[in-house]
Amino acid sequence: MIEFDQVCKRYEGGYEALTNLSFHIPRGEMRFLTGHSGAGKSTLLKLIMVMERASSGQVIVGGRNLSSLPARRIPEVRRDVGVVFQNHQLLFDRTVYDNVALPLIIAGYGHRDIGRRVRAALDKVGLLDKERKNPITLSGGEQQRVGIARAVVNKPALLLADEPTGNLDPQLSAEIMHLFEQFKQVGVTVLIATHDLGLIARMPYRLLTLRNGQLVTRGGDDNVPE
Ligand code: ADP
Ligand code: ADP
Repeated sequence: MIEFDQVCKRYEGGYEALTNLSFHIPRGEMRFLTGHSGAGKSTLLKLIMVMERASSGQVIVGGRNLSSLPARRIPEVRRDVGVVFQNHQLLFDRTVYDNVALPLIIAGYGHRDIGRRVRAALDKVGLLDKERKNPITLSGGEQQRVGIARAVVNKPALLLADEPTGNLDPQLSAEIMHLFEQFKQVGVTVLIATHDLGLIARMPYRLLTLRNGQLVTRGGDDNVPE
């Protein structure tokens, strides 16, 4: 599903955020992306979302080579990727329902389809009874679940999250991680950047660990294409 082959990312000004990165995440797997602040986690996620382009090497997502993808085809890639942010980026002048519906409206779905899909997504995150609320009236954990519903409402094959539990206490963080596991169980590929090592220590998924833009090898891990 995701393949990096000898990827380097150098920002303008010359700073090399990622160096010779090669790894492979098969479809339907769940992985954690860890590393210190500044290690390159967000940069790696941005390459997958085509918010940045690799300076050299190949990034292949869902069979598409992003390194040579023309700009007009970027929306097609993004439709297949759901993204969850730490600060969830919800709109506080709209209802929960409208926040979750947004990606479908942009994609041009019809009214009835939107209703069906939004309610299915809210049901998956346990917020069906909150659809008429303004997200500002919800707790932090609930707001993050609205963010997750919005990320999956399109049924993307790939779900990315950048520090999704950064603002939550341990109990709520564990619940959010459990939600991600449920998407993995229905075949979604999940990649979660986090520095909450305590939280993920007990979870049975492999880590991709970055140090100064390089993958730290852990025996038998993902550094070699599978
Ligand atoms: P992380 O998400 O692990 O904290 P980032 O990918 O955000 O790491 O950053 C990796 C490195 O790249 C950092 O040193 C950061 O300062 C640098 N960096 C990130 N974005 C840019 C940018 N747009 N321009 C220049 N340097 C950047
Ligand atoms: P369709 O809308 O294509 O008829 P369904 O609604 O029957 O598909 O979905 C089949 C199952 O797959 C659902 O139970 C749903 O939970 C699950 N599923 C597949 N992909 C995703 C995804 N990206 N996000 C959430 N659920 C998904």
